[in-house]
Amino acid sequence: MPYRLKSIELNGYKTFATRTVFEFSETITAVVGPNGSGKSNIADGLRWVLGEQSYSLLRGRKTDDMIFAGSDSRPQAGMASVTLIFDNSDGWLPIDFSEVSITRRAYRDGQNEYLINNEKVRLRDVTELLSQSGLAERTYTVIGQGLVDAALSLNSSERRRLFEEAAGIGLYRNRKDQSIRRLDKTRRNLERVEDILAELKPRLRGLKSQSQRAKDFDQIRDDLQEVLREWYGFHWHRTQRRLKDGKELAGVQDEKMQKARNSQEQKSIQLGESRENISKLRAHLSGWNKNLVDLRAQWELVHRDMAVARERERFLTERDASIASEQGRIELDVNLYQERVNETTSEVEKVAQELTEAENKSLTVSDALEERVVKREAIQAEILNLQDLLAATTASRLKLEARRISLESR
Ligand code: ATP
Repeated sequence: MPYRLKSIELNGYKTFATRTVFEFSETITAVVGPNGSGKSNIADGLRWVLGEQSYSLLRGRKTDDMIFAGSDSRPQAGMASVTLIFDNSDGWLPIDFSEVSITRRAYRDGQNEYLINNEKVRLRDVTELLSQSGLAERTYTVIGQGLVDAALSLNSSERRRLFEEAAGIGLYRNRKDQSIRRLDKTRRNLERVEDILAELKPRLRGLKSQSQRAKDFDQIRDDLQEVLREWYGFHWHRTQRRLKDGKELAGVQDEKMQKARNSQEQKSIQLGESRENISKLRAHLSGWNKNLVDLRAQWELVHRDMAVARERERFLTERDASIASEQGRIELDVNLYQERVNETTSEVEKVAQELTEAENKSLTVSDALEERVVKREAIQAEILNLQDLLAATTASRLKLEARRISLESR
């Protein structure tokens, strides 16, 4: 045999909880073991990795059943994986590898993955790769338990069919049957077409005239289309010209409108400025009005003050006159006092003279002298009094003078 299976590796598949590899030498390989130890599971694994989709053939119901379900000593596995390794040194598989590995994995969520030489692929890729070998078809590559017994109890024609299928002839027989069925169908279709043709023959003349009319119709329709094209072309050009004129006019109008818009904008700006100025002027006017009101109030105040001042002036004038008269009187008094001072001074001088004379005359007359001394002291006191009076009068006069000057200035 030019090609062969080198090994199969099971990991988490059914009873094979851990990675288990079976190497197949060129001679026959036998796997022996007690009942239920998992021998058939290897064949199931082989079928499974080759893409078997029928779980009943794999002795299960769903993907979960392919994954190690756990035991007393080991928890269940999350994934089942089976890998076949083929020797492809002579290129029996259409792939550029001398060794080809095909892997199928299944997870508990029902997801299945296929890998060729560790590259993820679709199931279809695996099927296509194996199609040349016949491994992809469900043939007797894997002979399940009980099939040998069943084969032995078959009659000769059934057995022949079994051998034909095992030899791969069954596949071609199926294809031949399918081809014959398709051929029959085509033959029946041909008969129907011939029937239809026979039915149509008597109507051929009528159909010919109809066909001629249809051709005429096509010709007329083409002519009409040509004429319509010219007609619409003429109108299209005319409309295009009008459209162009209209666009130019619209452009001019647009320009005018733009200018008008610009000027309107400027006017709006000016209007805004004027409004602003008016509002400013209004603010000034209201300020001036306020000022005017204030000034009026002030004027009234000044007016009132002036009336009061006039009244006061009149009063001061009168008072000035009285002060002037009083000043005259005081001046008279001053003159009078001055005269008296003069008189007293001359009297003092006279007394002093007399005193001197008396001193000269009668130094011995102490009583008289004492008397005279007392008299002189009295006179001196009076002089002092008069001098004080004079000073007070002068001060009063100065005060009155100052008051008169201030009143005059006011
Ligand atoms: P026999 O010689 O009687 O045909 P066998 O050696 O071929 O037996 P199998 O039929 O391959 O044995 O294996 C059956 C065993 O595999 C059963 O004990 C079953 O409990 C176990 N088994 C099947 N599916 C699973 C699974 N998903 N997880 C764990 N064990 C499983």
